[in-house]
Amino acid sequence: MSGKEINVLIVDDDEDDIYLIVDTIGEIAESEYALHVSHSPAKAIDIIKSNTIDIVLCDYLMGATSGLDLINSMRAENIETPVILLTGMGGRHLDDAALAAGAADFISKNSLSPEVIDRAVRYAIANAERQCVLQTVLTNVNAAVVLIDKDGALKLWNPMYADLVESEIGCTEEASLKAFSSRILSENRIFPIGDRILERKITNLLNNEMVVMLQDVTEHVEALRERELANNRAEHLAMHCSLTNLPNRNAFNDRLNQEIARAKDQSSGFYLFLLDLNKFKEVNDFYGHQVGDALLSEVGRRMGACLKEGDYLARLGGDEFVAIQRWDEKRHASPELAHRIVEVVNGSYPLLGTIVNASISIGIATYPEHGKTAEELMSNADLAMYRAKENPVNPVSSFDADMDKVIRETRKLARDLKMAVELADLDVHFQPQANVSDSSIVGFEALARWNHAKLGAISPSRFIPIAEDTGLIHKVGELVLLKACEIASTWTRPLKVAVNISPLQIRYTDIDQIVHSVLLKTQLPASRLELEVTESVLIDDFDRAHHILRKLKNLGVSIALDDFGTGFASLSTLVSFPFDKIKIDRSFTSSIDKSAKAAEAMRAMIGLGQNLNHRVIVEGVEKPLHVDFLAKLNCDLMQGFLIGAPTPHHTFDDLTQPVGTSGASERRASPRRAKFSNCA
Ligand code: C2E
Ligand code: CA
Ligand code: CA
Repeated sequence: MSGKEINVLIVDDDEDDIYLIVDTIGEIAESEYALHVSHSPAKAIDIIKSNTIDIVLCDYLMGATSGLDLINSMRAENIETPVILLTGMGGRHLDDAALAAGAADFISKNSLSPEVIDRAVRYAIANAERQCVLQTVLTNVNAAVVLIDKDGALKLWNPMYADLVESEIGCTEEASLKAFSSRILSENRIFPIGDRILERKITNLLNNEMVVMLQDVTEHVEALRERELANNRAEHLAMHCSLTNLPNRNAFNDRLNQEIARAKDQSSGFYLFLLDLNKFKEVNDFYGHQVGDALLSEVGRRMGACLKEGDYLARLGGDEFVAIQRWDEKRHASPELAHRIVEVVNGSYPLLGTIVNASISIGIATYPEHGKTAEELMSNADLAMYRAKENPVNPVSSFDADMDKVIRETRKLARDLKMAVELADLDVHFQPQANVSDSSIVGFEALARWNHAKLGAISPSRFIPIAEDTGLIHKVGELVLLKACEIASTWTRPLKVAVNISPLQIRYTDIDQIVHSVLLKTQLPASRLELEVTESVLIDDFDRAHHILRKLKNLGVSIALDDFGTGFASLSTLVSFPFDKIKIDRSFTSSIDKSAKAAEAMRAMIGLGQNLNHRVIVEGVEKPLHVDFLAKLNCDLMQGFLIGAPTPHHTFDDLTQPVGTSGASERRASPRRAKFSNCA
């Protein structure tokens, strides 16, 4: 307060007392007091209004009026200037009355001294300033505040509290304010009022009074609720597939581990089902993804309807689903749930205006017999599922250890094959192809051979599919192509060499560039190379395959359609691409002398090829009567054990030597032929 003048208004009806007070104040050392004087409360109000009065020193009793009246009049006019009452009399009851009326202090005129006045004035002003701050805070704070004493009486409240009571009870009389305060004390910490939500905070003061604050937390609570909803939604999405609303892979992984822990604890078990739709890709390709999705969602629904309490179903992705069924008392190799699922899922689905047929394959692994960990169970259920896929008659297959053995052997073989390919440790054998008319050799089919260090010769029928499954086929194919062309380029007669090309080589490599560089490297003329492809190459991606085959033909190599007659799209395939040759599968040849139908089929196929101007070669010629049969039909070419088995190239050096005049009859009577027909 130093440096600032304190404006004091002295109000007293007694002139002597005024002098006394003025004198006493005048004695205050380094006085900063500016004094104003009034003899009556009525005038005092005017002075206070027109001057900046910091404090009023007022006589308690002034004739008919009193200092208390002045305080009341001031407060009625919203003047909050502090008032110190002075009296000739003393006494506790006056003191209490003065404080209750809102006086800042009460001083006895008998004990007036400069120190007493100075101290009382400074304290009262400081207090008033604090009150002012408090008022400002209470008016502006964004909460309803009420001060309640130990008897429940309200000592103070802010405008917001009054507004709240007004809106709830419709009036702000003290009784209402008080009634409302008891109500809020009986509520929960967070409670609704009308359409708002309030939070109550209570601060207990030392004198047993309490400050109650009510804050509007409606928006906060709503935000929280929304966040919780959003969290729940996100959690649901994270654990569910949006298409079927079934638990997803993440949720399933958790569940499987829980099931394992539970079964272990209770020494019980469960079945794990892996469910996979058959030919789902074709549904997608043929009808489009919308129908595919609709099918998955309906399949999920139908399967879900089969579940009983405790069963669990999830979608792993694509057309792969998984289910868990706990043990009942009876264990079955092929539990009933699996069959129920097959029954409801297999059948037709009216979807988006079309009818789609679907069927499912189910592989089952049981805990603990078929695996104690999630990985083991999954991989064994997977093996069982593949077994189920192979067997359309029984679409439900339970894992058995033999399967595991076969798979393990296959995996080992795949590892060994990889090594063999890296070491270029594959051989190529050559099987002659001859004219039917005179048995003269026109070329050879190159066939891959693998001599396993421990297992001996492994048939390409065994290792080629493994190479295709593991991606090794590209290297295998390239190696065979290179070796075959290298050897053919050393032949003294310009015979053709036919090399088998896997559909995967056409689908996933730049096969035309590979062929081109092999021809360059080996200097084999392109016209001497023939590539044998099966029609499956044209089925998956016709345009691409067509394009690649064209490029190959443009290199100058010829293309033969292998295994003709074993596929389904034969006729359309034949017409769609200008093959140089078609190769009728050996499965037909072996039956021509046993079944009239097979003979008829052979006749029809040869006729078809001839009518379409393709050269025709028949495989599997093992008996002279096969040759006679083909000769009667004017079939061009033949291949089979009767002409010669596949052998390493050096064993037919003589055949690749230029031949003079040797005719068909000579060839047929040759020892080599006799030898091979014996082994057929
Ligand atoms: P494929 O292309 O149909 O080859 C003809 C198969 O028939 C050969 O079996 C051959 O030894 C056999 N064969 C030949 N003449 C006769 C006969 O008179 N009677 C009977 N019953 N069979 C005969 P191989 O060498 O075991 O090859 C089996 C299959 O493996 C081949 O069938 C071919 O699909 C595949 N393959 C062989 N080498 C390769 C290759 O280098 N690349 C690719 N992608 N596949 C190959
Ligand atoms: Ca072939
Ligand atoms: Ca064949």
